[in-house]
Amino acid sequence: MKQNTIPKLSLGIFPTPIRRADNISRLLNTNVFIKRDDLTGLGLGGNKVRKLEYLLADAREKHAEVVFTTGGAQSNHAMLTAAAAGRLGMKPILILKKRGVTDRVGNQLLEHLMGTEVIFMDTDSYEDIYREMDRLGAELGVPYYKIPCGGSNALGTLGYVDCAAEIRDQGIHFDYIVCAEGSGGTLAGLALGAKLFLPGTKVCGMMVDTDPFDEITPRLMRESAALLGESLEISRRDFELRNLCGPGYAIPSEEGNRAISLLAAEEGIFLDPVYTGKAFAGLLQMAEEGAFRETDNVLFIHTGGAGGLFAIA
Ligand SMILES: *Cc1c(COP(=O)(O)O)cnc(C)c1O
Repeated sequence: MKQNTIPKLSLGIFPTPIRRADNISRLLNTNVFIKRDDLTGLGLGGNKVRKLEYLLADAREKHAEVVFTTGGAQSNHAMLTAAAAGRLGMKPILILKKRGVTDRVGNQLLEHLMGTEVIFMDTDSYEDIYREMDRLGAELGVPYYKIPCGGSNALGTLGYVDCAAEIRDQGIHFDYIVCAEGSGGTLAGLALGAKLFLPGTKVCGMMVDTDPFDEITPRLMRESAALLGESLEISRRDFELRNLCGPGYAIPSEEGNRAISLLAAEEGIFLDPVYTGKAFAGLLQMAEEGAFRETDNVLFIHTGGAGGLFAIA
């Protein structure tokens, strides 16, 4: 492992805690632990903070005055980008797809509180939105920086490579790590990080969207490995995937809602309907199918999403 010298800002509070979920462990007859990346210490917490520590360091190096990003109307990533950029003295502009709950609730309310400039575009194509960022950036005439949907490029993915090293340093060996997959950076970072730091740990992504994650994930892993100067053999076998999308991206599913209620009642921990509820439902399915032994340690990454809990359609 080479020394990672890629610039990174400190935006969150790390390491995030890992706790054994005793009641869930008893119910599933295995050892379930939860890593609290919902408590990353910026905004209402969530996984995007780790990615933004790299992405906004790059924006700063490039002297950006404006930071653009995108997502759905209730994007946690967009809200956290606005929070982080504002704190760093850069102006965030969010160009969001006019899809999902656009009312002033959930993340829209939080953006309103921060006074964030939000533009809705009636399109299904992120390419349209990236073009609009360039048009608007040129019009503003200041240096600007574009962060892709979910912060999932090679640089953002490094945040979750670091998370794998953090898990190693927390001293428990995990047989499985389970997380939601929405734009890919979290799973790709953990899968790459597991190859580097967590031998013997299987990484499972619970897909909450219908993109081709079997291709997206290894591509991001390869691009991030290249940034680190690591030459590793990366393949589809480096991670497992399971489809938990249900009725569609950002549309709550029955099994996801059951998982939210179960974890809330048993452990007093709140998941969200778009990502973590569906991902935890995937963990429950695996347990039901007998994937985990009694002695296994299973780590669920709680990637946040609190804003979305208050904006269910
Ligand atoms: C964005 C997000 C995810 C998915 O992470 P990706 O890196 O985009 O795959 C999971 N949970 C929450 C709460 C998110 O906001």
